[in-house]
Amino acid sequence: MSEHQPGSSRIAVISRDACIACEQCVAVCPAGAITMEEGVAVVNADLCDGCGQCVAACPASAIEMSGEEPAEAAAAEEAQPAVAAEPAPAARAGPAPEVWVFVEHTDGQPAPVSWELLGKGKELAEALGGKVCSVLLGHEVAPLTKEAFCYGADKVYTIDDPVLGHYRTQPYLHGMIKLIEKYRPEIMLLGATTMGRDLAGAVATSLQTGLTADCTGLSIDPQSKLLEQTRPAYGGNIMATILCEKRRPQMATVRPRVMPMPERDESRAGEVIEEPLGLQEEEVAVKLVEYVREDAANVVRIEDADILVSGGRGMGGPEGFQLLQELAEAIGGTMSGSRAAVDQGWIPHERQVGQTGKTVRPKLYLACGISGAVQHLVGMQTSDMIIAINRDPNAPIFGVATLGIVGDVKDILPALARACRARLKKQQASSAAAGEGE
Ligand SMILES: Cc1cc2nc3c(=O)[nH]c(=O)nc-3n(C[C@H](O)[C@H](O)[C@H](O)COP(=O)(O)OP(=O)(O)OC[C@H]3O[C@@H](n4cnc5c(N)ncnc54)[C@H](O)[C@@H]3O)c2cc1C
Repeated sequence: MSEHQPGSSRIAVISRDACIACEQCVAVCPAGAITMEEGVAVVNADLCDGCGQCVAACPASAIEMSGEEPAEAAAAEEAQPAVAAEPAPAARAGPAPEVWVFVEHTDGQPAPVSWELLGKGKELAEALGGKVCSVLLGHEVAPLTKEAFCYGADKVYTIDDPVLGHYRTQPYLHGMIKLIEKYRPEIMLLGATTMGRDLAGAVATSLQTGLTADCTGLSIDPQSKLLEQTRPAYGGNIMATILCEKRRPQMATVRPRVMPMPERDESRAGEVIEEPLGLQEEEVAVKLVEYVREDAANVVRIEDADILVSGGRGMGGPEGFQLLQELAEAIGGTMSGSRAAVDQGWIPHERQVGQTGKTVRPKLYLACGISGAVQHLVGMQTSDMIIAINRDPNAPIFGVATLGIVGDVKDILPALARACRARLKKQQASSAAAGEGE
């Protein structure tokens, strides 16, 4: 956090002509030194602490700093001229760097990816010698604070306000920027969901920091302490590791189910930091007219399935997928597939696994007639158990499989479905007999 030095000889100067009255500087000023007067932002020199946050926040480049640098900062700049030319990485100035994780929720229901990211965030915070914190925006969201602690948060930053009742970009962005500007996290993680992607892009653009979308790996470089953000690039043909060296926070989104869910620990507790939103409903441009919930019963969510029976081009056509459906029913699984199967029109896109489909992490992933192209693997390789059936013994899918069966799906799948059905029948018969005996 920047140190507050009211009356510092270094103050912000705002050009009346360039000011576009967006009030971003008013929102970010930690000293409350900027107010709006007759449609332009005005600085109170007695309150300005010379922190320069308004300069970074101004989208119109209407603000510059005037006067002497504080002696310490000037000395530091002299010692490291190359770095001083860029905005200083905020959290490095503070005692304990913080890794922040956005808690996504709808109607009070948290998105599991928020807890998955807390698990990864904890690992990153430990590598930095810092803390993992949740950021919780919404209305009447106190119960989620407790949940965040249970999943590993050391601290929860929260803004509870009716304006945040349903997700809208503008008020959530306002709240996030306010918290980030004030508390300066080193790293900010969000789920690569519809909401997370929307908010992450808006926050990164406003702060002019870097954002790596859809990361499949996150780690801390032991030397530089920078966040290593790994994701497929160039159509999935390479894995790129991306660094954000000079701006803060370092921002990344991660798809649901890419990171493992941490253990829930009921006994954990932590510090709650509450902040006001400082934004009225009248100031929000987008109004919520109607809120309609998706009919969950009619939506197939392969990303939530424990067992996926997945087919590729090797299934040969819709009749092949009929075999898969029978097996899926026999073992209580859900049917999914590769992009080749989707492109052929054998299954709908909502069931596609992979880079341009869904990322899944079931207990069992059965890959039938799927070669194992890298774009498919990135969507399923963290499944607990992978069984692959392919007639080509050199198919790359066997490289990630727990168990591989070399053979023709047309022979193996019907036999497997028969065996599963017979076993199920036997189990049902013995539990019925046990019930009669009681
Ligand atoms: C930008 C980009 C994004 C992409 N995104 C995705 C994505 O999200 N998901 C995805 O899946 N792909 C994606 N792809 C496509 C990907 O590169 C592959 O083309 C695709 O995964 C291949 O699907 P497949 O394994 O079903 O087919 P193929 O690669 O054709 O493999 C078919 C396999 O079936 C086996 N086989 C054939 N007949 C039988 C049989 N009778 N019994 C047993 N085995 C048999 C063959 O040996 C072969 O290994 C993407 C590509 C790009 C460029």
